[in-house]
Amino acid sequence: MGSIGFIGQKEIVERFTEQFRSGMASHAYVLSGPPGIGKKTLAREMAKTLICLEGPDSAPCGKCRGCKSFDAGLNTNFTEIVPETRSVLIDQIRAILDDISVRPARGRKVYLIQEADRMTPQAQNCLLKTLEEPPPYAVIIMTAGNFESLLITIRSRVVHFKLSRYSDEEIRMILKRHGKDLPAGDPAIAFSEGIPAKALALVDNKDFGRTRELVFSYLLSDGRDLADFELNEYLSENRDALPDCLDILESAYRDAMLVLCGKTGSLINSDKFDKLMEYAKKNSIQGLIKKIEELNGVRSKLKRYMNHQLAVDLVTLAPHKGTNLTEVHL
Ligand SMILES: [Zn+2]
Repeated sequence: MGSIGFIGQKEIVERFTEQFRSGMASHAYVLSGPPGIGKKTLAREMAKTLICLEGPDSAPCGKCRGCKSFDAGLNTNFTEIVPETRSVLIDQIRAILDDISVRPARGRKVYLIQEADRMTPQAQNCLLKTLEEPPPYAVIIMTAGNFESLLITIRSRVVHFKLSRYSDEEIRMILKRHGKDLPAGDPAIAFSEGIPAKALALVDNKDFGRTRELVFSYLLSDGRDLADFELNEYLSENRDALPDCLDILESAYRDAMLVLCGKTGSLINSDKFDKLMEYAKKNSIQGLIKKIEELNGVRSKLKRYMNHQLAVDLVTLAPHKGTNLTEVHL
């Protein structure tokens, strides 16, 4: 079976194309998942498949008038709604309802409501009427960070597709499609957590490599040399690097644990294998678990009230001084 031009999310793509080919496409879909996972991209690909005039096939042809005008952003049978201010407002939904009642000259009409979980309750109730009795030619696709935030009456009338994280190989292919050809095991792929937008941001983040170098020098220092202060100074001056630094530290602690367990097949920092071995030798699994707990403590306090510099000092200085982070009076 051919499939729409989307990398990954195989189960969803197969279910959708199968329904579509057999003439059983739903009138409403919700795509949910964390930010950056590709909800909007997949929704647009589904919309284009539905809009293509050479159907029903599993993939848009890319050549017909429907496909061409869709690509140019000029297809009048496709309407995309983006939240105004922080919410999707009732007026935006009313505009859909006005348009949906007009039968298209040919093909289907597709509506994409972005961040549908930001619809006000009034907007959701307004949309509900259409979901109960949709015209046969109309399909409404919604994206949502949190499916559960939609009213239950909406949820019960849609097909829900929950996007899952991508494999490293899929992330590599997605990056390649964006013109970034990286080798397997590249840190940007390993640190992306299976989220394409995160991988793309890491590729473009020039400081990420530098942060990693400093973190590994710090981990291997004996607490007396310059590496501690270098990292401390760097983080004091680069506020934005602290979240990355915490992620890198945590990944190194986890990798070191895996090394101690003899499981070296799925290390995030596989490109720094020798350094990980050296670091792991100096640590115990229990010590590493404690370090991760302490790190998470700093992370959650940082979100609420902790001062940036105090967090930097705790992370870069306290561990070598034998201070237990959780016992420091904050
Ligand atoms: Zn087409």
